[in-house]
This record gives sequence, structure tokens and C-alpha cells, in this order.
Amino acid sequence: METPVDAPMKDEHESPKWKKSIVVFVLGGPGSGKGTQCANIVKQFGYTHFSAGDLLRSEIKSGSEFGAMIQSLISQGRIVPSVITVKLLCKAMEESGNDKFLIDGFPRNEENRIEFENVAKIEPAFVLFFDCPEEELERRILNRNQGREDDNIETVKKRFKVFVDSTLPVVGYYESKGKLRKINAAKPSEEVFEAVKDLFASET
Ligand code: UDP
Ligand code: MG
Repeated sequence: METPVDAPMKDEHESPKWKKSIVVFVLGGPGSGKGTQCANIVKQFGYTHFSAGDLLRSEIKSGSEFGAMIQSLISQGRIVPSVITVKLLCKAMEESGNDKFLIDGFPRNEENRIEFENVAKIEPAFVLFFDCPEEELERRILNRNQGREDDNIETVKKRFKVFVDSTLPVVGYYESKGKLRKINAAKPSEEVFEAVKDLFASET
């Protein structure tokens, strides 16, 4: 059928719904409680939660051509190339049907941040940062039993170093833009959630 001349033109470059979404990045050292608190936020505030680490781990399991490379980087506590992680995140958002996302454990470095900005073209509404000292993070990770091959003392130390060297600059970037919301995460998870709840109630 011919398109009537006065019909509105379909804009081929029209953004999908998720491109106009609200995104909250959730950062913090390994073991700072990002995953735990994100699950709480989902229940109470209607966000869809994506953990970049979980997406990468399921990419390994799916038999992807990048699986071996991703696995090797994760086992060394190193950061996977941004194109891979950003593609997985965009795909997950596209398929979700929601328009409010918590993205946990990302961006881990400036390259991640810039790739996401360029590809997803979304700026986070704000960045939730779980602040916790290294000794406490170590203690938690070595006590949790999630069967993760990177939860051993040697890799935890590497992950913490990568966090300080590569992720803290991203935290500083958002702080300078007035987007950082810092939470003291060195407390029992129920208490941390009280602070998180107050924050989300005032932000949204
Ligand atoms: N990872 C990555 N890019 C990301 C998120 C995770 O390369 O955007 C890799 C990295 O090797 C990291 C590992 O996945 O050490 C585990 O990340 P996750 O966020 O699951 O760990 P957490 O910080 O929650 O303990
Ligand atoms: Mg996690």
C-alpha cells in the first residue's frame, strides 16, 4: 500500500523507548553490597536491575565467541573491553520493556563511561556510590560463598586495586558533575537500605 503524502513520516532514527530511560549507575568496591541493595531497590521502586558482571558471566555461559576472553579477564580481576559490556547492557535494556534501570558495577573506568555515553546516549540521573573500607570488603567477600572464581584473596586484592585505580576516577567525575550520592556501606545491610530508601524517595 502506498503511504499517503500527508501521513507523518516514520523517523528511521527515532530512539527506542529505552533511550529516553532513567539510568542510575551503582558503584562501589567489590563486596560493597551493590547487588544486595539493588535487589531491595527493585522491590520498592520499580527499577529493572542489570549487573554488568552478571551479564558478562552469562555471556561466558552462553558459549559466546568472546567467552574465553571474558573469563580470563574476570579471573584476573581486569576490566572487559567496553564495546562488549556496553553492547550487553544496551541489549538488556532494549529487551526489558522497562524505562528505569539500575546498572550495577558499571562504568568501571573512564573508557566504559565514554563508550556508554556514545552508544547508549544516556546520562545517568545520578550515581549511587557505596563507600566501604577495603578490610571490610575483603572480609565480606571471603565469607560469602557464591562459587565465584574471582572471590579468592589474591583476585580480591587485584579487584580492589583496579577499583581504586580505574573506578574511583569515574566516581570523582560524577562527583564533579554533582551527580554522586554517597552512602556509608560499612554497616549492616538493613541499615544501608534505610539510607538508600531515603535517597530514592527524595530523588524520584
Ligand atoms: N567486569 C567488567 N566490566 C564491568 C563489570 C564487571 O569487566 O562493567 C568484570 C571485572 O573483571 C570484575 C568482574 O567482572 O572484576 C566482576 O564484577 P562484579 O560487578 O560482578 O563484581 P562485584 O564488584 O560486584 O564483586
Ligand atoms: Mg555484584
